[in-house]
Amino acid sequence: MEMSEVGEAMKTLEELSGIGQKKIKLFNKLGIYTILDLLYYYPRRYDILERTDMRKVVDGDKVVIDGIIESTPIVSQLSAKLKRIVFRVSNIFNVYNICVFNQEYLCRELKYGVEVIIFGKYDQKRNTIVASEVRLGRLPEERKIESIYSTTEGLNQKVICKSIESLLEETVDLVDYIPDYLIDRYHFPKKLWSVSQIHCPVDVSSYRKARQRLKYEEFFLYLMKIHYFKLSVRGDNSAIQRSFDEKEFYHFIDKLSFSLTVDQERVVEEIKLDLLSDKRMNRLIQGDVGSGKTIVAFLASYINFLSGYQTALMVPTEILANQHYQNAISLFQDTGMKIVLLTSRVVGKKKEKVIKQIQEGNADFIIGTQSLIQEKVIYPNLGLIITDEQHRFGVNQRNDLKNKGMFPDLLSMSATPIPRTYALTIYGDMDVSNIHTKPSGRKEVITMCKNYDDILDVLGLMKKELDEGHQIYVIAPSIESDKNDGLDNVLNLKEKMRVAFGKKWNIEMVHGKLDTETKSKIMNSFEEGTVQILISTTVIEVGVNVPNASMIVIFQANLFGLSTLHQLRGRVGRSNIQSYCILFSKEKCDRLNLLEQTCDGFKISEYDFQCRGEGDLFGVRQSGVAEFKLADIKKDFELLVRVKKDVDEFLKEYILKGTYKSYLDLLK
Ligand code: ADP
Ligand code: MG
Repeated sequence: MEMSEVGEAMKTLEELSGIGQKKIKLFNKLGIYTILDLLYYYPRRYDILERTDMRKVVDGDKVVIDGIIESTPIVSQLSAKLKRIVFRVSNIFNVYNICVFNQEYLCRELKYGVEVIIFGKYDQKRNTIVASEVRLGRLPEERKIESIYSTTEGLNQKVICKSIESLLEETVDLVDYIPDYLIDRYHFPKKLWSVSQIHCPVDVSSYRKARQRLKYEEFFLYLMKIHYFKLSVRGDNSAIQRSFDEKEFYHFIDKLSFSLTVDQERVVEEIKLDLLSDKRMNRLIQGDVGSGKTIVAFLASYINFLSGYQTALMVPTEILANQHYQNAISLFQDTGMKIVLLTSRVVGKKKEKVIKQIQEGNADFIIGTQSLIQEKVIYPNLGLIITDEQHRFGVNQRNDLKNKGMFPDLLSMSATPIPRTYALTIYGDMDVSNIHTKPSGRKEVITMCKNYDDILDVLGLMKKELDEGHQIYVIAPSIESDKNDGLDNVLNLKEKMRVAFGKKWNIEMVHGKLDTETKSKIMNSFEEGTVQILISTTVIEVGVNVPNASMIVIFQANLFGLSTLHQLRGRVGRSNIQSYCILFSKEKCDRLNLLEQTCDGFKISEYDFQCRGEGDLFGVRQSGVAEFKLADIKKDFELLVRVKKDVDEFLKEYILKGTYKSYLDLLK
């Protein structure tokens, strides 16, 4: 296999001749920083420039023709927003009526006698082509495939095309992530050739060949990254040998303020066995929002503590870190467990102190955000790493965290249910524990889609809840409105809520722009119940737990993804109180109706998956690890299964036997 350096391709755009500073900025805007980025900036779609044989066309067909304008275009204003231009085009075959909507700027160009290319739909009855696009010029004599890229203001198709073309003319070294014996097996074409076929296909069959090869590679690399993580977890026999006082452990469970559900008990046992075994644990706890994953993870940390090791708990948001921290402190108050909090907002002296404490082994349970891996913290005695809402962390991040410890066990929690087949592929050999049932006595959250005209009704419902001593979340898509973007925002809603409820109830807001102190002060007062209405952005989306909150009102719900809405809804219904979720939307929206019908996270994610393809279901978007550029987990599922087989074979027959060692370096 070619293991050539990617030095060439990692060059920044500055080094590419013919691109000035101004253009570089624009390229950056499109997410293109290196030559490699540019090379992988694939076309959004293709236009096939080929004259349609109009003799074979039937009503409604898409057509491309060219010819000469032979009438003066007539512009008519059909309504305030709708303008129409009509003219005639003739070529050697026929004369056609052309009709274009809302492209007024064309008027200047379209004149009698001008040569044009028309893309559009044929309306047979009227012998008219309703044009979606009109271009000046004439079609090439040969059929031509034209690549269309996403552009940004100031950077048009032509420039992007030219930059990529000139790049393709140079020799660029590309790392090929497919092992050579697999390239042979499938007769895959060369990588650089394939990339160039995506940009400038010579014909459809080359394009397909190239595309299949690159999709294969995308999946291969992704699965290898995941496996690399697992391999490095499993591949050694240095699992921590623990022993601890089981009596003390079960005594602790008996003293909890509630008894564990059957599922929780089962999962706790599974984890206990993992921790006691001589194999390293790599387990995922899957359970819908509110199913009670936290206590299970805390119990795992308690076993680890009783065995004499440190636990690190990594969560995606600061609010959640804070909440876990507070909960851990009160849960473990009589155990002697030393608990610390480390987030990017813990700074200065305080931070120094926490880090020192960790390094000297004076912290048993370390709770935090990404800072846990970003800071140069040394964990002398790390036995267990827990990640909450694990789908939000990329594979790489988890790898980093793992590298911090010696050979700690790994436990992840996720409330994003992943459809089973996909989970098997994505998680492969990770052990999965499911918590199916919620703690008993929970009532299903009643969900209602509302139109903005219903606002008074909703205020009435809110008042009823407040009167009963319950609390309410109000969610808006934005913090403040600095321009007329038409978004409901936190500041605005706070004012409205103040007018409606401010006399009797306390209203506060949280959002990402507030500093930690303020945020945690407000969250605390909401938890304690001194604040009754909390207005927020989606910062409270994951994990936040205030059981007395019985209603969540989400404004412009149609702007949020289904899984986000399901998570937000999961903030209520966390006790025996009947809870409500109100979804405001200006437009009708099927997705929202689905939420009205079901609270089943699996159904919702399945639907989401059907509609969106991979989406950010796996948290891959945030992580940037598996941005499949061409492949689509859903559409190319068969290919994914095939690649999975090949990856398993590659691991078993080669990597584990010590060949292709340098391949692993590619994954770092
Ligand atoms: P999630 O699975 O969404 O992370 P949490 O762990 O935050 O859910 O639990 C939700 C709420 O349920 C918390 O208030 C927690 O204390 C409570 N809870 C967890 N387990 C039980 C149980 N067995 N009985 C009663 N309440 C429970
Ligand atoms: Mg949680």
